[in-house]
Amino acid sequence: MSTTRSDSQSPSNWQISDSLPSHPEPYKIKMIEPIHLPDRKTREAALQEAGFNIFNIPSDHVFIDLLTDSGTGAMSEHQWASLMEGDESYAGSSSFFRFKNAVQDVMGFEYVLPTHQGRAAENVLHSVLVHDGDIVPGNSHFDTTKAHIEFRHAHAIDCTIDACFVPENDEPFKGNVDLAKLAKVVDEHGVEKIPFVLITVTNNSGGGQPVSLTNVKEVAAFCHERNLKLIIDAARFAENAWFIQQREPGQRERSVREIAKEVFSYADAATMSAKKDAIVNMGGMLCMRDEELFDQCSSFNILFEGYITYGGLSGRDMEALATGLYEGTEDDYLSARIGQVRRFGDSLTEAGIPIVRPPGGHAIYVDAKKFLPHLDQEQFPAQALVCELYLEGGIRGVEIGTVLADRDPDTGKNRPPKLELMRMTIPRRVYTENHLQYVRDVLVKLWERRDSIRGLKFTYEPPILRHFRARFEWE
Ligand SMILES: *Cc1c(COP(=O)(O)O)cnc(C)c1O
Repeated sequence: MSTTRSDSQSPSNWQISDSLPSHPEPYKIKMIEPIHLPDRKTREAALQEAGFNIFNIPSDHVFIDLLTDSGTGAMSEHQWASLMEGDESYAGSSSFFRFKNAVQDVMGFEYVLPTHQGRAAENVLHSVLVHDGDIVPGNSHFDTTKAHIEFRHAHAIDCTIDACFVPENDEPFKGNVDLAKLAKVVDEHGVEKIPFVLITVTNNSGGGQPVSLTNVKEVAAFCHERNLKLIIDAARFAENAWFIQQREPGQRERSVREIAKEVFSYADAATMSAKKDAIVNMGGMLCMRDEELFDQCSSFNILFEGYITYGGLSGRDMEALATGLYEGTEDDYLSARIGQVRRFGDSLTEAGIPIVRPPGGHAIYVDAKKFLPHLDQEQFPAQALVCELYLEGGIRGVEIGTVLADRDPDTGKNRPPKLELMRMTIPRRVYTENHLQYVRDVLVKLWERRDSIRGLKFTYEPPILRHFRARFEWE
């Protein structure tokens, strides 16, 4: 692989040759949304009131919101215009057919059920496929996915390659599934216990790291030899395809859409949170090839979401989603977006701040174990860092660590994950380079006084998906 100028200047042992400098944003700003930095006193009061849980902070007390890239993107003028064309018919809405055509065209699936968001698609699919005692192997299941599996008394087993858990390891496809781990799980539990194998692209919980085309093919071959279904969690399929284009030998000349479609061609079905790569504020879908599975899922879609031609979405939502599927898979847009994330990450590395390398597609993950080595994982170092980032600069990040990992449903014990991270997620088409430089400057201040940062303890712990509603205080 060739080395670009920017790569050779990079401080770490940089191996990856994404084509930098990236494309500038292929759009300009037509409308702005004012934001303000609340003063220190207001921030202190807001954090206290929130029980040290940034999910409880009102957004007008947040200056730069890097909580999530989910539903926080800026829609284009075409998406806003397409809202006006929504057909709100209960059945057979023309907006549904436009949406379905876009899904067939971009993703290549014959059947699609609209859902109100990604987890709703999981709920519908898992209602058909996942049963008590089942095993669902995959590469770092997303938290809602895992919760839907465990809610049905089944188990999610993480088969991600070990490199994913080594933050300084600069491998290009750290999201990959380890085939040996997968084979071991299948041998141990038997195919009858495994309703499907799940590949999440990009690997969100593992740091927004991509999965290679080769890996998808290998996993698909493995599954299909054993008559196992392969399902893709497609929240960031376009970003994943862009990484394949940039990093995988022989893929440079192909478009992101071509690559994405090939990835999907190996899967039996896909769930997608359209709030990510389809750049809408709300929406999701469940896609599949098999008519029988579609029929079974349709019943649950009607039960949980809505009739099969709207399932939890307005006609106008399906219009914006259809438009967003095309915009979110354009090469120049993806180059600008992922380039922005990459430059932000590199600027932190240059300042000595430990992050997961290489930067992923949608977020930068600060390594809280290395940032705060004086804290034990049971003192929630990543959560403490999230609180300090807010206090210092009005910036909202999110914990991807021990709080999120929750307790083991069988033993009731905390299960501290290998990586203890603070995620700073970059919304699509929202913040400028200046905003991210400000975030870097705030983080540098925290880095300089890191020894003074204390741990947290629970004052309230909910029984399920605890990170959303838990409350804490300083130790
Ligand atoms: C966001 C996300 C989901 C869940 O989607 P929602 O729209 O938030 O319900 C599932 N998987 C992955 C990888 C995600 O990032």
